[in-house]
Amino acid sequence: MAYLTVTNATKRFGETVFALRDVSISVERGEFFTLLGPSGCGKTTLLRSIAGFHALTSGDIRVNGADLGRIPPHKRDIGMVFQDYAVFPHLSVFDNVAFGLKPRKIPADEIKKRVPDALESVHLTALAERLPAAMSGGQQQRIGLARAMVINPQLLLMDEPLSNLDAKLRIELREEIRDIQRKVGIATIYVTHDQEEALAISDRICVMSDGHVEQIGTPEEIYGDPQTQFVANFVGTINQLQRGPTLDGILETLGLSQADKSADKAAWSVRPEALVLSDLAPPASGEAVAEIEGTVQKYTYLGREAHLFLKTVLGEIVVHVANPARAIKHAHGETVSVQISKDALFGFDGAGKRIATGNTPAQGAA
Ligand code: ADP
Ligand code: MG
Repeated sequence: MAYLTVTNATKRFGETVFALRDVSISVERGEFFTLLGPSGCGKTTLLRSIAGFHALTSGDIRVNGADLGRIPPHKRDIGMVFQDYAVFPHLSVFDNVAFGLKPRKIPADEIKKRVPDALESVHLTALAERLPAAMSGGQQQRIGLARAMVINPQLLLMDEPLSNLDAKLRIELREEIRDIQRKVGIATIYVTHDQEEALAISDRICVMSDGHVEQIGTPEEIYGDPQTQFVANFVGTINQLQRGPTLDGILETLGLSQADKSADKAAWSVRPEALVLSDLAPPASGEAVAEIEGTVQKYTYLGREAHLFLKTVLGEIVVHVANPARAIKHAHGETVSVQISKDALFGFDGAGKRIATGNTPAQGAA
């Protein structure tokens, strides 16, 4: 049985705001589970409901089989880390972390053991006696993490904990959070609007929009096998292909015209790295590929990859080329040919749901 289950959770604020609509998730012991979606989609509301700060309008939340609503807050084994650091500037780092133990009536000698352990796990041992005021955002957030961990929680909830940090530190600290989480083996629900962060850190991701769940899956499933148009657009970048005789011809060539049931409403798209410049394509494998031509609008060289912006009859398309050699630098106005394989194409029906094409997901297409 899953450690945490949320079943058909709906949360209304007043008469009009549906912050959550029929949301169901389950999180396993030791799992790192991420809620990903744009601002306002209900991530914080779901997290706060799990923490017990919000009562659901309907639905239920169970931890270890027990109805969360019946467990008084101080008995809930939940650690929380928020976006703002919420440290007390007049208390030492040690006392900030010990503060998490206050409402739990932990004996003093136990506090003297547990706090150093928590500080050790976030690499703050050397700063235990300092005041946090002069510390960096990253260090302050480590204090927040240690304070959450010191209660030995069964569940760790984190709401955009890295949002106030600069890009380099964000990457550093997310790796650390993941390492600590793995070591302790604690079930964690992590909220972010940053898709790259979600892909990097999670066992599974729940993509949300407008209060509902779009898709739940591993990072590879979410990116490589998006089940809705929203997920395909929100996670990574994607080329939307323009409808018309050329696209119809491509679908025909690839044997996908049968899949194109709601012809005028269906939308087809392809990831930039799943497009292959014909010059660089491996020798034909017998599998059907379609080819289109494009005029180079811009060539951006980024070292480990290059982005080629093309004007084509399918619209503006970007192609990502991995390990670009200097030799393939493309000039403005040059004509290049691009191959599209069946596996690379994602089709979505008029309601934004993925059209089944019987293809294997374009995982690791890069
Ligand atoms: P996220 O964390 O994904 O940005 P939230 O859960 O904060 O989204 O908000 C979801 C929706 O609920 C938004 O439309 C927001 O304005 C609304 N909302 C959140 N909290 C309250 C509240 N206390 N009262 C009224 N509306 C709220
Ligand atoms: Mg939020």
